[in-house]
Amino acid sequence: PLDYPAHRALEQSQKLQNVLYEIRGPVHAHAARMEAEGHRILKLNIGNPATFGFDAPDVIMRDMIAALPYAQGYSESKGILSARRAIVTRYELEPGFPHLDVEDIFLGNGVSELITITMQALLNDGDEVLIPAPDYPLWTAMTSLAGGTPVHYLCDEDNGWQPDIEDLESKITPHTKALLVINPNNPTGAVYSREVLEQLVELARKHRLLLLADEIYDRILYDGAQHTSLASLAPDMLCLTFNGLSKTYRVAGYRAGWLAVTGPKGHATGFLEGINLLASTRLCPNVPAQHAIQVALGGYQSVNDLILPGGRLLEQRDAAVSGLNAIPGVSCVAPKGALYVFPRLDPEVHEIHDDEQLVHDLLTSEKILVTQGTGFNWPHPDHLRIVTLPWARDLSVAVERLGNFLAGYSQ
Ligand code: PLP
Repeated sequence: PLDYPAHRALEQSQKLQNVLYEIRGPVHAHAARMEAEGHRILKLNIGNPATFGFDAPDVIMRDMIAALPYAQGYSESKGILSARRAIVTRYELEPGFPHLDVEDIFLGNGVSELITITMQALLNDGDEVLIPAPDYPLWTAMTSLAGGTPVHYLCDEDNGWQPDIEDLESKITPHTKALLVINPNNPTGAVYSREVLEQLVELARKHRLLLLADEIYDRILYDGAQHTSLASLAPDMLCLTFNGLSKTYRVAGYRAGWLAVTGPKGHATGFLEGINLLASTRLCPNVPAQHAIQVALGGYQSVNDLILPGGRLLEQRDAAVSGLNAIPGVSCVAPKGALYVFPRLDPEVHEIHDDEQLVHDLLTSEKILVTQGTGFNWPHPDHLRIVTLPWARDLSVAVERLGNFLAGYSQ
């Protein structure tokens, strides 16, 4: 091989200094090495329904296959019209959701790409974004990558993980540009009450903040929980709502997401042009997956069969929550939505200083892969995130093994 002198060594760019994504981080790589050695790992770290036997509705697949011959070329940067029309219709059916035009919809390679584009279009160095703690860490990572400063407002476990409004208010500064709300929340599974959402909106209104609403789990609700979209409470404000097919329609691999822009735009033409520009530079999202959107939104909403009594997702959530709460020194708020549990390991019982080390040790010992709470920008090493996608019996076994492991574990 060619000899590269020291001054040609390639380091990670400095831009990535604060960019973390622990869900697929070093522990994930550790699991891959163990798999290569022949171990069977139960992966409870990624919310990927297809890998746990959740098949997408047949109609989506059939429609997409039928559309393949017509999906060879690039599409409009914003996405194909039929999909954007279907998204407009979806929101027209939602009570109180502000008016949308097809031009207000941007399609993306999953919500992930639209988060990246939005943050790059929005932030200058030092601009602050209010992000929940715990969070879905891509938001924090992409805020940092764009030069912004993520400022985390706490969600209160003792109050069903609802946002702590006082904490949030105390963190608003002249540099704050946007308020992110993830509802239903990943990783806590909290579904925010209308009153709390109104308080969040009111703060954003007072300080003229951009509203960012990540609502990718809005159709995955338990125990009769009702989801209120943030935009419906703020028709007088600019609000960006993010959603997609990955979770509700179980096609995370197709990479189909959207962004809906509602409210007044006059003060934000530059920002919105920036989104348009970046959407153009990636040419267009994956076109076959765009064809899945119309049929997914218009067809039978089979996710309801999974979340209502007797539904597989509900049973799995119950198995995880009851198993976790039976472990001494572990408590778990029952999620009202989404695909995760975020149990607490009582520091008085389980003295853990490094939750990443705990996750490595659990993996080595029990062949179970979960993600440490600090990977979700939770400030203390006392939580884990566990995906509730495996069959209830597998989850029960995994949680029992976690309990046995914790009983003999100390750092
Ligand atoms: N937002 C939240 C809260 C998520 O949990 C995820 C994925 O887990 C995403 C966004 C990204 O989803 P996708 O890029 O598959 O649309």
